Amino acid sequence: MPTRHLYIHVPFCARRCSYCDFSIAVRSTAPVDEYLTALKAELDSVAREIDGRTLETVYFGGGTPSRLGAAGIREALAAVRDHASIAGDAEITLEANPDDIADISASRFHAAGINRVSLGAQSFDDSALKWMHRTHDSTQIGEAVQSLRRGGIENISLDLIFSLPPQIGRSWEYDMARTLDLEPTHVSLYGLTVEPKTPIYRWASRGVIVQGTEETYEREFLAAHDMMTAAGFDHYEVSNFARPGLSSRHNSAYWTAEPYVGIGPSAHSFDGSTRRWNVPAYSAWIRCLGSGGSVIEGAESLSEENRRFEEVYLGLRTRHGLAIATDEMNRIRTWELAGWAVVDDPLESPRVRLTPTGWLRLDSLAADLAARRTEAATAA
Ligand code: SF4
Repeated sequence: MPTRHLYIHVPFCARRCSYCDFSIAVRSTAPVDEYLTALKAELDSVAREIDGRTLETVYFGGGTPSRLGAAGIREALAAVRDHASIAGDAEITLEANPDDIADISASRFHAAGINRVSLGAQSFDDSALKWMHRTHDSTQIGEAVQSLRRGGIENISLDLIFSLPPQIGRSWEYDMARTLDLEPTHVSLYGLTVEPKTPIYRWASRGVIVQGTEETYEREFLAAHDMMTAAGFDHYEVSNFARPGLSSRHNSAYWTAEPYVGIGPSAHSFDGSTRRWNVPAYSAWIRCLGSGGSVIEGAESLSEENRRFEEVYLGLRTRHGLAIATDEMNRIRTWELAGWAVVDDPLESPRVRLTPTGWLRLDSLAADLAARRTEAATAA
């Protein structure tokens, strides 16, 4: 299947958020010209995979891609069009921080070609935002949403983080209500995890409580499901909600194992059987491209076992679920009885879908089913 999806990683951030372990480059001013020169060189290096293709999605992720500015985004898209067509109805997403969006920048991003913005809101509680080292306050989230709409961008996703530590006093229900007040088309949730080399990891190693309990995680995840679905959103993937017809087309391509090309530091690509990834550090990425070298740090061909696990894991994380064999039904029935799954069309072509309580156990259920499939394949 030809590549129809392009991811562009833009690593610049004003500072590192307290929970973030992404590949970023902290810069007070983004070195836009240097970045674009390297990006064009990398586009040339992946020409074989994208030239002559028609892209259905382009996703600027980060980092904080909005720090490239509208002129930078326009130039990046022009460089993409030197290689591939971008479909007239393509989804072109920009991740943005609320403090990078005002009336002028919103209309310029729209004029540059952006038609979907994923806004890093995270919380509407100013104490929580401060604790997270975010660069915006709660007022700026609503202002950014209104600016985007005035600028012609209606397809707006909000990112929120749940399971924060109790001492911050953040109300998850209040944050969800404020989110719904802004009437986004899409909401992505992230349960806070403590990753090595992050500020909260260092705080935790000094004994500070830096995340909610398992009970908090479960309660807030299920409360989000109830509030969002009552408001008419589809809970279409374990961490994502969308108005009908407005699921993220780019991310859906990942979850259905479609090929994609990723460029920029740390970006991953997948051609249907092999996954590769770029060097994570911005300085190394610039150096490799400047000297005509490869930015690919590693690659792996999916083994049968990997492929089996991915098929199960990706299928179970979406509301479309996974086709199952009749001899797997007994196992799946135990999930059903526990309230973790439902089985559609059990007699003709059974498919299992996880419920919200099942999604809380996604990793272990996927591992269980994949292991059984491996056993069955080995025995056959
Ligand atoms: S803005 Fe996003 S990418 Fe940048 S440090 Fe914060 S969480 Fe990480």
